[in-house]
Amino acid sequence: MAIHKSEGIILSTANWSESSQTITLFTPDRGRLVLNVREARRLTGKRGRPMTFARLEFSYYLREGGESGYLSDVEPVEVFLFEKDGQLGRLTFASASLELLNNLLIVSDPQPACYQITLSFLRMADSIDKNRLPGLFAGYIFRVISLLGFRPNLAGCAGCGGEIAVDTAEPEAGLYFSIERGGLVCDDCRRAMPGQDHLIGLSEMLRSKMLNLMESSLEEAARIPVTLSELNAMMNLVTSLLKYHSGTIRPLKSFDFLEKLTRAVKAYGG
Ligand SMILES: [Zn+2]
Repeated sequence: MAIHKSEGIILSTANWSESSQTITLFTPDRGRLVLNVREARRLTGKRGRPMTFARLEFSYYLREGGESGYLSDVEPVEVFLFEKDGQLGRLTFASASLELLNNLLIVSDPQPACYQITLSFLRMADSIDKNRLPGLFAGYIFRVISLLGFRPNLAGCAGCGGEIAVDTAEPEAGLYFSIERGGLVCDDCRRAMPGQDHLIGLSEMLRSKMLNLMESSLEEAARIPVTLSELNAMMNLVTSLLKYHSGTIRPLKSFDFLEKLTRAVKAYGG
């Protein structure tokens, strides 16, 4: 077994017994990494706090060609405590982001850009004004899914490439997003589609806000006002898209993601 050094963020922890623990990490150089933790190295930081939201430096043993190894040493180098006003909202947005990554990342698939933006997101979620959390979170999610190959096509028709005409008679849902095609579809393409099971209606206003968020840095996204109902509509589209297209990887499990988000939104609103 060879020893390696890396850094990473814990995505999930599973305790199999008193003495056996497995952690799943997001590392910049290997993507998803699963490590077994021996009792003496149990992952609790100072004062017994679990090191869930932290950037860790660690060394580990991995067999040549192996997919999981053993944790050797671990040191938190940056900890996100989410202690500012709006703590529950901060925690839930951060948890939702890690849960999403845990479902989308693959073993031995390096994602350095996605890793860096996740660190930036966690830093900002720890520090910015709580009213900016929805814009920050939406901007982060669009960035991550784009980096991982699930960017929704909101520019033209995903069927024929033509322009999309907005139905002004239906300002609330003048546009149709096809989950199967991963983008908006024009009227002609929509009529030519055999079923409409995977269509989500959206307004022109929501489309332009989503496009705006996709083209923004995290700092810019955090300044875009996003209402809680807009955020829910966006995440409904995103989660439907991921559920359908990441099927070959691993279905996004219970989708308590959205439910969690709604709870966060309530906590954050009140
Ligand atoms: Zn079309």
